[in-house]
Amino acid sequence: MQLLAIFHQLYDRHGPQHWWPAETPFEVMVGAMLTQNTAWRNVEIAIANLKAVGRLELESILAMPIEALAQAIRPAGYFNVKAKRLQHLCQFLQQHPELDQLDSDQLRRQLLSIHGIGPETADDILLYAFNRPVFVIDAYTRRLFSRLGLVEADIGYESMREEFERVLDADPRLFNEYHALIVIHAKEICRPRPMCGACPLVQMCSYAVTT
Ligand code: SF4
Repeated sequence: MQLLAIFHQLYDRHGPQHWWPAETPFEVMVGAMLTQNTAWRNVEIAIANLKAVGRLELESILAMPIEALAQAIRPAGYFNVKAKRLQHLCQFLQQHPELDQLDSDQLRRQLLSIHGIGPETADDILLYAFNRPVFVIDAYTRRLFSRLGLVEADIGYESMREEFERVLDADPRLFNEYHALIVIHAKEICRPRPMCGACPLVQMCSYAVTT
């Protein structure tokens, strides 16, 4: 199975990634919201700011004046918008304490109903906070797999997610590690200007042989 072979190649090249870098499921959710349209290092600063003022908890974030919350997460960019979205998420979580009882499809629909949560953020939360077998698709996944010739570059989010979930075993540990490996590979090797000479996938890559 090609997707599994690619996983093993990436794992052999990069090793275990130990995702998601967070201490609690709630921190995963906050990070998933903050990482929209910004680099992870900026999210780390914003989360460190929240921790420094003792606010990285649902009730604490809800109790924060929106301006103070925005200032704390300022390094993550779009901080006014993200502060509102974070409080929406916290309100939702407070009003729905039974979320972890839902099946994955129901939980996904609930998450997507929250203002500011799109498919990628919902799937980050499903996989890394709720440990559900949902494959996360992002720009790195699209770039890598379209270069490999396995999907069209403009494939829709849901089509690509469903294809991964159809082919691979529904194992959250596999999906966790696979997504993390895709990210590191796209950041370090299959970059916008790819380093094909250092890539373990070069023999199977249609992009590499045509450039
Ligand atoms: S061979 Fe080059 S283009 Fe293909 S996956 Fe590797 S780095 Fe990306």
